[in-house]
Amino acid sequence: MQALVLDQSEGKTVAAVKTISADTLPQGEVTVDVDWSGINYKDALAITGKGKIIRQFPMVPGIDFAGRVHTSSDPRFHTGQQVLLTGWGVGENHWGGLAEQARVKGDWLVPMPEGMDGRQAMIIGTAGFTAMLCVMALEDGGVTPESGEILVTGASGGVGSTAVALLSALGYHVVAVSGRESTHDYLHQLGAHEVLPRSAFSAAARPLEKQRWAGAVDTVGDQVLASVLAQMNYSGVVAACGLAGGFALPTSVMPFILRNVRLQGVDSVMTPAPRRREAWKRLVKVLPTSFYQQATTEVPLSEAVSAAEKLLNNQITGRTLVRIR
Ligand code: NDP
Repeated sequence: MQALVLDQSEGKTVAAVKTISADTLPQGEVTVDVDWSGINYKDALAITGKGKIIRQFPMVPGIDFAGRVHTSSDPRFHTGQQVLLTGWGVGENHWGGLAEQARVKGDWLVPMPEGMDGRQAMIIGTAGFTAMLCVMALEDGGVTPESGEILVTGASGGVGSTAVALLSALGYHVVAVSGRESTHDYLHQLGAHEVLPRSAFSAAARPLEKQRWAGAVDTVGDQVLASVLAQMNYSGVVAACGLAGGFALPTSVMPFILRNVRLQGVDSVMTPAPRRREAWKRLVKVLPTSFYQQATTEVPLSEAVSAAEKLLNNQITGRTLVRIR
């Protein structure tokens, strides 16, 4: 079988598509014939070696995949069944989805939701699943379309694009933040009412600024998140899931203690199974069909490495889907 394999040579990560034996797959109850995977930010860090994601080599990257059950000793899954997987450390410390087969624990798999196919599932992927979790976090915090404007940062990336599309489909007034002029038309097509430049959020924020946002989905972190917090309405909610701009958070307690702002962290890796199923059901229901055409770049496995480099160079909009077979 063909697999993208990461090795280390003189302290550097080397990525190459290789033919490997299925016997070398790690232990697990379910072997899946992978049809689709994707390139997420974390995959890009792992494949290029620019982030310390992988600690054991050789490693097959790919933090998500969709495919069909090949064999299963877990009674919940049968041969031929369509399944998907995101998270659980797959593609980080357990061989992942950028290969023709993956062997994983049954507990990690989600049966393909009704009304969705494997290609659509991986256009959504970890990024889109995380966007749905962010939207659910805003809802949990009491944010409704009537509450006011919702800001999405890193808007033209995988998480951001899906968040814009979801929030717009749910009737929210969405304002997108993007560092690229070239993405503005795309973001309007996804449903953004307005697009603001990243530079408007890059300067050191005062502890409190003029209130504007009822909710925010932040994929960027650092100064951008600090600025967003300073501009939240009273009782506004920020769902913070990313660090595309950095992992620092140069803020103060002022938005929390004077404006009742809620900062809700969002993790997709260890999300418990019931919330996973709920999020995937909502994705099937809420995402418009047009999203799947608008937000996708499709590449074969042989181009996964160059796609990862492009993603880290901020040259990709939306999601990068990897066709495995
Ligand atoms: P992408 O690379 O697709 O998108 C990130 C976007 O952030 C870019 O498109 C760009 O948007 C913006 N951006 C890039 N570099 C910078 C920078 N230096 N400063 C400010 N903004 C920048 O990544 P994903 O959408 O896949 O992931 C986004 C973030 O979310 C990542 O940090 C990722 O690790 C995190 N993530 C977290 C998950 C979790 O479980 N918590 C799950 C999935 C992702 P634009 O050009 O429009 O400004």
